Amino acid sequence: MSDDTSTINQEQASQLQVRRGAPQTFYDLTLDELTERLAELRQPAYRARQMYHWAYQQLVSDYAEMNVLPKSLRADLAESLPLTHLEPVQEIQTDDGETIKLLFRTHDGNHIETVLMFYPDRVTVCVSCQIGCAVGCSFCATGMMGLTRNLTAGEMVGQVVAAARRTRGLDRQLSNIVMMGMGEPFQNYEATMKMARILNDPEGMKFGARRITVSTSGLVPFIDKLADDPLQVKLAISLHAPNDRLRDTLVPLNRRWKVRELVDACRRYVDTTGRRVSFEYCLIKDVNDSDETARELARLLRGLLCHVNIIPLNPTPAEPSYERPSEARIHRFAQIVDTAGIPTSVRYSRGVDIAAACGQLRIEHENAAGVGGA
Ligand code: SAH
Ligand code: SF4
Repeated sequence: MSDDTSTINQEQASQLQVRRGAPQTFYDLTLDELTERLAELRQPAYRARQMYHWAYQQLVSDYAEMNVLPKSLRADLAESLPLTHLEPVQEIQTDDGETIKLLFRTHDGNHIETVLMFYPDRVTVCVSCQIGCAVGCSFCATGMMGLTRNLTAGEMVGQVVAAARRTRGLDRQLSNIVMMGMGEPFQNYEATMKMARILNDPEGMKFGARRITVSTSGLVPFIDKLADDPLQVKLAISLHAPNDRLRDTLVPLNRRWKVRELVDACRRYVDTTGRRVSFEYCLIKDVNDSDETARELARLLRGLLCHVNIIPLNPTPAEPSYERPSEARIHRFAQIVDTAGIPTSVRYSRGVDIAAACGQLRIEHENAAGVGGA
């Protein structure tokens, strides 16, 4: 070791670590990567499959529970390849228990939120892919934070495994994953898709790709990339406006990729994959909720295999002047779009009272005593 490196103090070292990304964990590895890693430890290939079963089917939280493995290997791995670095910090439920927010601390002292939503026919987990977000949509609390860093595939897998374990504890089974927590998945594309591949593995969780939805604010090149990916995950587009004048004010990314380019990319996606696209439309009073805007939206999407989800705004401090429209306005807007031939539903966010709703995920844990949120 040179003098230079030996004088790096602990703080500098941990900053370096942060810049290099989180240290590798079991949840970061595809089955092939795990097989290679175990081969270095002179372990046969079937061990990797065994471990995938234990980790993703039995959902064990410790190597100690993988009792088919030699003790020395378990000890070795616990040291060199921890299952996860995510540390559960807190759990908050809505009164009726239908929404649970899980809060984790990362290895570098940041916090991530994951939201579990229980419905009669399905259980959905809303996963974060970044700490903060660089896109900065005007109505979104996460956008206010700016971007701290991308999460690794392992940190996303860790959120899902914890959610699956929690769900199993309630005698239910996790059925859907939506990448609608903090962050923009297409600004962390490789790690997001790696997460989906790890969870989809038939030796592991066997999570159907079509039960995973990636939601984007509209990075056009990645829509084309996703269309070509063999993994058939679902695509949701956060549209929020049918024209550039309006969308420029809501989604800053629109200055780079215009509404027309975005919808054209969606048409290519549908042509290539045959899969339907969902459009999310956050409805804001007197901003994007007029009858004329509804008609313009329907004209824009005519002929496209799609579905529109109207999400009434959850007011956040990101833009205090934005308000949620009245019930009558929300339903009239949805009805105009639907009647024009575009299947449309209204979706109220879950977990508003625990600051777990869309756009409310904003971690204040570092600074405040309580769990954050708008
Ligand atoms: N960055 C991605 C995914 C995370 S945001 C994206 O923008 O698509 C998940 C969804 O919540 C998006 O559709 C987003 O527009 C919506 N959302 C954000 N803030 C909201 C708010 N205050 N009220 C309602 N929906 C909101
Ligand atoms: Fe980022 Fe999505 Fe929030 Fe926009 S809505 S700031 S893209 S997390």
